[in-house]
Amino acid sequence: MNAQIVIRRDREKPVHNQHPWIFSGAIDQIRGTPQPGEIVDVVSTQGRFLARGYWNATSQIQVRILTWTDEPITLDWWRSRLQRAIALRGPQDMTGAQRMVNAENDFLPGLIVDRYADVLVLQALTLGIDQHKLSLAALLAELMPGIRSVYERSDVDVRAKEGLEQASGPLHGNPPPEAIEIVEGRARFSVDVRRGHKTGMYLDQAVNRRRLHRWMHMLPQGARMLNLFSYTGGFGLHALDHAGEITFVDSSHEALVLAERNVASTAGSHDAAAPHAFVLGNAFQVLRDLALSHEQFDCVVCDPPKFAHNAGQVEKAARGYKDLNLNSFRIIRPGGLLFTFSCSGAISADLFQKIVFGALADSGRQGQIVEWMNAAPDHPVALTFPEGAYLKGLIVRVL
Ligand code: SAH
Repeated sequence: MNAQIVIRRDREKPVHNQHPWIFSGAIDQIRGTPQPGEIVDVVSTQGRFLARGYWNATSQIQVRILTWTDEPITLDWWRSRLQRAIALRGPQDMTGAQRMVNAENDFLPGLIVDRYADVLVLQALTLGIDQHKLSLAALLAELMPGIRSVYERSDVDVRAKEGLEQASGPLHGNPPPEAIEIVEGRARFSVDVRRGHKTGMYLDQAVNRRRLHRWMHMLPQGARMLNLFSYTGGFGLHALDHAGEITFVDSSHEALVLAERNVASTAGSHDAAAPHAFVLGNAFQVLRDLALSHEQFDCVVCDPPKFAHNAGQVEKAARGYKDLNLNSFRIIRPGGLLFTFSCSGAISADLFQKIVFGALADSGRQGQIVEWMNAAPDHPVALTFPEGAYLKGLIVRVL
């Protein structure tokens, strides 16, 4: 019999509402002695079954719920959950990249799986998933016959909260190639799943990058574009066929080396490509300098890393976003576009819009929101898990 985690009566509601996390403060008592990672039953003070999940006493989130139905958690259970997530992604285009499992949002807490062509990259964020990663990798390979390797990229800070070391390396099949070629619309990416950020690419922005391609074509031919926080060139690659000039800015040398390679292979697949420049530096400073020297652009993309890691960092993060957006507005020509993002979960979409409004007001410009953006649909957000919605963005036309 599974150990029982008894939930305080006044803390039962989120469990009924299918929020997947149980914090230590919600626990009334523990019946039995669950081992780290073990399956436990979540019960009411009357002993009624509420849910089942995996246990980790080291984490503040002591139980991650796997099911609200009284069903055994077997290998078949994991297979059917994975199968559901995979089926939801629809037919697989094996030249592209896609998120296959989005953790809590696919009701598989702690598990991220991204596909790069025929390579899967698995991220185990919790102890419960870490213990199962080899069998999960084997199940994924079984469920997706075209896959030739599953590689682990669990080198993320959040694992420390679970009492885990960082880990990466091959999990199943052949080791992946040094570089995987990925097609995303008109862009060509070379992805390094061993050393790239996250699992290799920022897949959450895939749809927004394609959006940029459409919007660029509404700007005059030869438009001047600034791609701030460019990473491996993501947004700019989608503007190569229309822009007159693109400047990529990033603080990572490795990212810009790959950006240069991606520009070359994307340009090779078009008839013509805009001249481009790669600037290694701090985007805050580069932007300030551009504003001081009265440079003008038709399109600015501002996609910074996460500034607020918790509620305590919101104010400082807000100042960072304000600064970036203010200087971006200053360098945009009338009729030009700003693609501006925040991937800080602690900054709500509403607050982000207010920050961008403040920046616009200080710049003395007029602006219109022409689109609100989120993460791509292969990053669904479970309605029961609002924490899943972290990426927000606006396209602002500056008048
Ligand atoms: N838009 C990209 C993803 C950007 S991720 C895409 O679609 O692929 C954020 C990037 O910002 C990372 O590449 C990181 O190296 C870079 N970065 C972080 N801090 C920076 C800073 N202060 N100045 C410039 N780049 C920075």
